[in-house]
Amino acid sequence: MPLELSDDQARLLTVLFPQLNCLRLEQIEDVGSGLRILVRTGTELVACHRCGTASSRVHDRYWRRLDDLACGGRPVEIQLEVRRFRCDAPCCPVATFAEQVPLRLVRALPDPPVGQILVLGVDDFAKRKGHAYASLLVDMDTHRLVDLLPDREADTFAHWLRAHPGAQVVCRDRAGAFAAGARQGAPEAIQVADRFYLWQSLGEAVEKTVIAHRADLHDPAPEPDPLPGPVHQEQGEPDPSCAQATDQTTEDVPKEMSDGFRDILGRERRLVIRHTERYEAVQALQAEGCSLARAMALHN
Ligand SMILES: [Zn+2]
Repeated sequence: MPLELSDDQARLLTVLFPQLNCLRLEQIEDVGSGLRILVRTGTELVACHRCGTASSRVHDRYWRRLDDLACGGRPVEIQLEVRRFRCDAPCCPVATFAEQVPLRLVRALPDPPVGQILVLGVDDFAKRKGHAYASLLVDMDTHRLVDLLPDREADTFAHWLRAHPGAQVVCRDRAGAFAAGARQGAPEAIQVADRFYLWQSLGEAVEKTVIAHRADLHDPAPEPDPLPGPVHQEQGEPDPSCAQATDQTTEDVPKEMSDGFRDILGRERRLVIRHTERYEAVQALQAEGCSLARAMALHN
């Protein structure tokens, strides 16, 4: 049974865990393997991250597990309640938004442990378009980001694999660097090409083959003339009935409603809004010096 914490008990706990003193400590529970502490931000009014309008209308709540702490040799799991608020500003495209977690708390927590990864995915990405590349590592079983490497060199990847042994399969692109890195760092792992690159290779092979045999392809037979009908539209002339239908559709959908956050019927695109919120929250944490892995672990 969880124990409701009094003010004094909560204060005592923040002495043990000073990184939690910006939060309201609500409950503590002995879950056998360790302790679980439920915390909330306690802020009554939260500003919409898009328009700045303060709101106290809670839309829904969800729990986010923060990284474990330890007390007396027992693991302590921190469960943070995150609330979603409604934004009532009439001109704001955001209907609901999640409150931000205090940065001090995020920065005080260690990076999430990598753990045992059996199937590891690796790919590169441009830190700036066309410029410096980095690599991201993904647990292919859980689809979670595992770590980031500062470049896409074979030695860097090999070094990471040696430090985190156990990968049985490495899923990679067709470039040589990751293949060489996997051979050096995890020689026992099976290397497989990511499905995307298989499709890409297949597409390129088909294109090459078609181009090589272009001379053998005959021009298609000309299509028969269409039968003359009572209403025959000349090509290039718009059909007035179509134009009318198009105009009608345009009139039905208010332009200001069909932005990226709402569909053409004015309905909220919840997935787009949540992804945008996650992106902005992660960007904000990164701007404050928080590592990408930690920021994404919190907002995953
Ligand atoms: Zn707003």
